[in-house]
Amino acid sequence: MSEETLDPKNWEEMRRLGHQIIDDMVEHLKNIREQPVWQPIPLEVKDSFRELLPKEGQKIETIYDEIKEKIVPYTLGNTHPYFWGWVVGTGTIFGAFGDLIASALNQPSGGLEHIANYVEQQVIEWVKEMLGYEAQASGLITRGASMASIIGLTVARNAKAGFNVREKGLQFVDAKLTYYCSTEAHSCLQKAVELLGIGSKNLRKISVNEEFQINLEELQKTITNDKKNGYKPICVIGNLGTVNTGAVDDLNSLADIAERLNMWFHIDGAFGALTKLAPESHHLADGLERADSIAIDFHKWFHINYAAGCVLVKSQRDHYDSFALVPEYLTHSTRGAGGAEIWFSDYSVELSGEFKTLKIWMSLKEHGFEKFGRLIEQNIQHAKYLTELIKNEENLELLAPTSMNIVCFRFRKEGMDQERLNKLNEEIVLQLQEQGLAVPSHTTLNGNYTIRVAITNHRTKREDLKIFVNAVKRKAEEIEITIL
Ligand SMILES: *Cc1c(COP(=O)(O)O)cnc(C)c1O
Repeated sequence: MSEETLDPKNWEEMRRLGHQIIDDMVEHLKNIREQPVWQPIPLEVKDSFRELLPKEGQKIETIYDEIKEKIVPYTLGNTHPYFWGWVVGTGTIFGAFGDLIASALNQPSGGLEHIANYVEQQVIEWVKEMLGYEAQASGLITRGASMASIIGLTVARNAKAGFNVREKGLQFVDAKLTYYCSTEAHSCLQKAVELLGIGSKNLRKISVNEEFQINLEELQKTITNDKKNGYKPICVIGNLGTVNTGAVDDLNSLADIAERLNMWFHIDGAFGALTKLAPESHHLADGLERADSIAIDFHKWFHINYAAGCVLVKSQRDHYDSFALVPEYLTHSTRGAGGAEIWFSDYSVELSGEFKTLKIWMSLKEHGFEKFGRLIEQNIQHAKYLTELIKNEENLELLAPTSMNIVCFRFRKEGMDQERLNKLNEEIVLQLQEQGLAVPSHTTLNGNYTIRVAITNHRTKREDLKIFVNAVKRKAEEIEITIL
């Protein structure tokens, strides 16, 4: 009887291809500036991903050729210096090696006694120290800020509901729990609240001021009203860097309100929390340390290769009490391969996960945290520079104050109404993207189509922004003639 395995028949052939892959990927990133930022995926390439389920195996060289032809050219473009869309990180080659090693070792983080869990603990300790957060806090490395928010808001619910939510659930309890955030809060927070059975209507969305910060007076009034009407306000969510404009709520005032009313204070610091490391702009994160829980991303402004985020929870006990559940088959032994001190599954929705902490640990060792801080400052200064360039252009108009790393603006011209301006600016963004020149994204502010440049890019140089502004102006003129 012949037995099978998934190991290569020819290890030497696998090794050769592995070396080739490393060579190609290093070359790819080294020359990324020369590539188009983004290009449309041709129909035949899309169609080729509807092929028949492979029944028999293929040669690895054939598979790799297909990757070079059909996958490598059609990525989002976020590794390119001219990518400033949404909030997306750049990544590093050493981080990619981290994924290679982690994946080869194939460690199921989450529980059991193996080294991945100690790397995770180390990274969490470092994150707390970098951010100046409570040393006794617990933490978990997540796939992103969305999962970090689910965890933070779950602990908030369980700690503040006033009854055992894990046991009773919310179905037969007249709990009337309410959460509070601004209209600028990220959609992942609403999804989390929906998932928690609170209901989106009970996530009160408070209006914002001209700086796109939560309106504190309205927040307090809404809470008072809710109490009067029999609701139980349990959690205030603060934005440390909104996704639209990079606005930062008055975190200290939010912390005061939460403290006074015995509510949980959660911060969405997906990218903004890391401004704490910026040599000059660290004041943006003032008040961060007062959060009961905070969601952070590593794959955005920390340039860890996708995916990696983190949640910190000030009360380790509350965090543990929300998720720990130890069945017979996961009994934590004191010796052997099951004898781990910390099981991250006791702090998470998930049990097993990839060894995503290795690349974070490697990157912090490669560069040191101060360099990450300098890069964050560099991007904030880039945003200031771009803001100045826009202010000096007659036909460019800022649409929001630049408070961090996001610049919101549009092309405008005397006599053009909002509808035409919206159309013109949309066309500018789409053509820049489709022609591979730059990838800004867009949003709508006060009814205006807004070109949105969010700089979380360690490859961007100051002069790139000048070239970008000129490209916008050139496009605007071309489009005005041909389309409008
Ligand atoms: C990106 C982002 C999120 C969601 O994070 P993911 O890592 O994409 O899950 C939440 N809040 C803000 C402010 C963000 O920028």
